[in-house]
Amino acid sequence: MGSGQVTDWQGKNVTVAGLGVSGIPAAKVLHGLGAKVTVVNDGDDARARAQAEELQALGIAVRLGDGDTLPAGTELIVTSPGWKPDKPLFAAAREADVPVWGDVELAWQLRGPDAAPWLAVTGTNGKTTTVQMLASILKAAGLRTAAVGNIGISLLDAVLGEEQYDVLAVELSSYQLHWAPSLRAHSAAVLNLAPDHLDWHGSMEAYARDKGRIYEGNRVACVYNVADKATEDLVREADVEEGCRAIGFTLGTPAPSQLGVVEGILVDRAFVENRQKNAQELAEVSDVNPPAPHNIANALAAAALARAYGVPPKAVRDGLRAFTPDAHRIAHVADVDGVAYVDDSKATNTHAAEASLAAYESIVWIAGGLAKGAVFEELVAKSAKRLRAAVLIGADRGLIREALARHAPEVPVVDLDRTDTGAMLAAVQEAKRLAQPGDTVLLAPACASMDMFANYNQRGDAFAEAVRELGAGA
Ligand code: ADP
Repeated sequence: MGSGQVTDWQGKNVTVAGLGVSGIPAAKVLHGLGAKVTVVNDGDDARARAQAEELQALGIAVRLGDGDTLPAGTELIVTSPGWKPDKPLFAAAREADVPVWGDVELAWQLRGPDAAPWLAVTGTNGKTTTVQMLASILKAAGLRTAAVGNIGISLLDAVLGEEQYDVLAVELSSYQLHWAPSLRAHSAAVLNLAPDHLDWHGSMEAYARDKGRIYEGNRVACVYNVADKATEDLVREADVEEGCRAIGFTLGTPAPSQLGVVEGILVDRAFVENRQKNAQELAEVSDVNPPAPHNIANALAAAALARAYGVPPKAVRDGLRAFTPDAHRIAHVADVDGVAYVDDSKATNTHAAEASLAAYESIVWIAGGLAKGAVFEELVAKSAKRLRAAVLIGADRGLIREALARHAPEVPVVDLDRTDTGAMLAAVQEAKRLAQPGDTVLLAPACASMDMFANYNQRGDAFAEAVRELGAGA
């Protein structure tokens, strides 16, 4: 069983690595196809036991507390994408010549003969937003489609469910791409590439290589970010189908074979007749919600993929207009006393926070949390001129404080020295004190939230709640 299509699953010995959001459905689907499934899991807690019981009742074998030993007779491993490639299980698999697939590879392999093509998106930041914009555009063109991957429906459901699709807008993480050897998208985009998840991938090179896998075998277009040369390099290195084109997107004036912006208009100079001379108007910058620079880049990437699929210009505009971003992504919470309060709790790394800060002129910045090894020098140096003040919370706030002291010594900083959940209200109150009419109080933590909150959603909700208390005169 190589990475070629498997048609007969009856009696195949498949090991599913990891109980969890992708492992459990994968085990059930494979069991349903007649495979002999064993699920292995590192943890052995109450939750894992309950999940194991449910699977065992169906006739699926489960081994808890040992995710490292390869079960005898395994012909294929289907792994949860989060499992690190350096785990002993995978060394054992290599040794025994057992292929390893992730959830995406499994979905790719199980799709039917007339399956919908995939328009795929990856990148360090902006994946979810771009995929949702893309789905909105495809829908506006009258196509049956869905945004799949991290959000909404899972790839397995999209591929195996009742619903028929013409085309899928697929979000892929670097982990998923790592474990998807035979995936071949119709067209794909890498939005940007900044250091992230390096502990998992081992190095920036390995991370980039995994992201670049998304271009392998593309048929129509490899979409890259003109402002991020690393994404263009990945296109150059990819082995694509004959005739597949490299299409750039830029916030500047587009060259031939690019999409870009001219005088407030999103224009296409790639999928037009005579692109040396012509450009096609797609939408206005104000059609993009919110019209922050990084989000316009996301819209251009989505438009490029849609145009590669043959969608008419009007559908790009209608789809962008119909799109509303998910919560906690530059969400405007309220205006209080002439100050805008914006929740970008999803800015969990420095690259995202930098994009977010670039969208406003005068900012009281609320930041901090778990740094995950990040360095804040560049972010602070680039954003310094926009900062009215900074309010710091969370476990690793000291790192941001030091970067501010070095690169923005003029900017007043309030270090709240707190990591309790209630600190958000204090942070918002401090921000209100520091802000002047016309300013934006921006929660763009540049850090993960788990030191203070269950997740970024809860952090954003706490911010919004605190802003509401302000508005109520607290
Ligand atoms: P992902 O799915 O890649 O995590 P999201 O669309 O959920 O991306 O956006 C996550 C955060 O990244 C946003 O809150 C915003 O701060 C930032 N972001 C979005 N698009 C971009 C982009 N193109 N470049 C840089 N940062 C971005």
